[in-house]
Amino acid sequence: MQARFRRQKRRDTAPELALRRLLHRRGLRYLVDARPLPELRRRADLVFPAARIAVFVDGCFWHRCPEHGTEPRHNAEWWKDKLARNVTRDRETDRSLLDAGWLPLRFWEHQPSADAADVVAAAWAARRPGRCSGGQRRSQASSRVTVSKTAPAVDGPEALT
Ligand SMILES: [Zn+2]
Repeated sequence: MQARFRRQKRRDTAPELALRRLLHRRGLRYLVDARPLPELRRRADLVFPAARIAVFVDGCFWHRCPEHGTEPRHNAEWWKDKLARNVTRDRETDRSLLDAGWLPLRFWEHQPSADAADVVAAAWAARRPGRCSGGQRRSQASSRVTVSKTAPAVDGPEALT
């Protein structure tokens, strides 16, 4: 269990693959492990350039999930520091994206993929081009998405084909 959390796998984690599969099935197309903003040296797990949505599936250990985040006892100081830096970096990334008119969406790896897919699909449907011809739309949405069981159902977007 611990070993699984410790391995800092950058992409293609199981929860990420599950989310990708669900979104693809709904007709959403995206870039994988890409930079939302070329000038920002940060990658998102999924990027929707036209809708300007960056999706992150955060590992519970590496990003300090309140439910599963742990601090190793061995080298405790080093780990504390390292994990705190990860979290700070996440917040900075979110801020930069919001400033640039993007919507960062973060999910914990422990969240059900179907719930995450609902949130992404709803955001995508609301932000995709063609719906509204406004210019820079800034979102004040909180970056950490809390998925509740009572989240409204989302109509699946029509397939692109
Ligand atoms: Zn967790």
